[in-house]
Amino acid sequence: MSTQIINDEMIKATKQHIQEIYLADDRPWVVGYSGGKDSTVVVQLVFEALSELKSDQLQKKIYVISSDTLVETPLIISSINTTLMRIQDKALELGLPIETHKVRPETNKTFWASLIGKGYPSPRQKFRWCTDRLKIDPANRFILDKVSKFGEVVMVLGVRDNESHTRDQVLKSHTIEGKALMRHSSLPNSFVFAPIRHFSLDDVWDYLLSYPSPWGNDNHELMALYQNSNSECPLIVDKDIKESAGSCGNSRFGCWTCTVVTKDKALIGFIENGEDWLIPLLAFRDWLSEIRDNPKYRQKHRMNGQVYLLSANMNDINIDDYTVIPEKDLGKYLEQNQIDLASIEELNLLVEDEDGNMKKLGLGPFTMKAREEILRRLLETQKEAQAKHPNDPNFELIREEELKAIRKYWFEDGDWNDRVPTIYEEVTGKQLDWEQDDRPLFEEDQLTDLETLCQEYGLSLQLLKKLVMIEKDYAGFKVRRGLQQEIEKTLKQDWLHL
Ligand code: SF4
Repeated sequence: MSTQIINDEMIKATKQHIQEIYLADDRPWVVGYSGGKDSTVVVQLVFEALSELKSDQLQKKIYVISSDTLVETPLIISSINTTLMRIQDKALELGLPIETHKVRPETNKTFWASLIGKGYPSPRQKFRWCTDRLKIDPANRFILDKVSKFGEVVMVLGVRDNESHTRDQVLKSHTIEGKALMRHSSLPNSFVFAPIRHFSLDDVWDYLLSYPSPWGNDNHELMALYQNSNSECPLIVDKDIKESAGSCGNSRFGCWTCTVVTKDKALIGFIENGEDWLIPLLAFRDWLSEIRDNPKYRQKHRMNGQVYLLSANMNDINIDDYTVIPEKDLGKYLEQNQIDLASIEELNLLVEDEDGNMKKLGLGPFTMKAREEILRRLLETQKEAQAKHPNDPNFELIREEELKAIRKYWFEDGDWNDRVPTIYEEVTGKQLDWEQDDRPLFEEDQLTDLETLCQEYGLSLQLLKKLVMIEKDYAGFKVRRGLQQEIEKTLKQDWLHL
């Protein structure tokens, strides 16, 4: 750990460096602001560096962007909102060309649309699907939009050389020899400028506590937020740097739903400080983390229909509770016993390969039943939190657009009973303005008939529904290019041909 202590000379030199890079060309800057310490230092230094320039030098735009994953820890996101507003107001007052923006995931890719709608299992370190969908993609969309408008952009990030050894190497490998900018690892015409890469952790705190925030924030409050936490979830805009950082999720500046970490330090900290209305959120998050690896909640094939086998740990298994099937007979066994891998909860099945090794079926997304339970519990959690919320009885954990996206996904996955509006009404006692076009194709009694027919003919109801949905999607089009391929792809799914 470095002990370099910040001084006026070092700050002056850093601001001069920022000014030189700013004045060197007309490429606009995009500054990532996560609300955490490192990005606060960067925004503050950039703000101060600009304030010292003459007005005719302030020619190019600086966009300060923050990501709102829509599942941000509630008190953190309101503090980020306040800060963005203060930065914007102060910049206007001083005539600085700074614009603040929030970037959000697309509605069909939010945390809830992915987890409850599509059944993505709660994220963990090895399957962290959320950072791309919730943070990187929205930030990249913003950046690419600016690239298409201005030709090139420079991203200004709060990464530091010594945050971790690997990150240090990534930073070095991207640096253009002798230049202050790094090439972005994947975005064309985008460059990365890391003005505080030489800062140590001590420098960061020294600066924040000795140099007051130009827009009137109290940086001591920021320090208080870090008391039980030692890292932040940066606003990530470079995938390589993100992968090596590894800090996303272990932070107060992440999502309240984050199951990548074992404990949610942010929620616990706030609750300990008297924010009792967050207790239901913590309970829900812990439950979401618990059910992740429970096979009962998971499909026994992947989202694309692929079935995979994993070595069984025989120390954890009482063989008497299991049926052992030779691998070559797996398909026949499932068919004879009419086992639907998408919805079966308990499957005490061991598959023995030719060499006598025992394997278990790998897990896929959450089952429809699990998704229904998650949605119900989430709405109940929202209701409880609303009742306890000190000043916002309409506080939301999930938005109306997300519920509509989930309804669409469920419908595609064969929920023809249209459960989203029902669950919503059962929990909240209210109705939403649901799209009439998304009404189910069949009435309930017709569905029961279909189910019976499928059983009689040994046909998968799930497959039938999928095929009908494909036909529905192409209905009304004169040229139905792609229909044949879609049908073929569906019929070739792994689990149908074991
Ligand atoms: S904080 Fe956790 S849930 Fe949110 S994007 Fe980061 S890893 Fe994913």
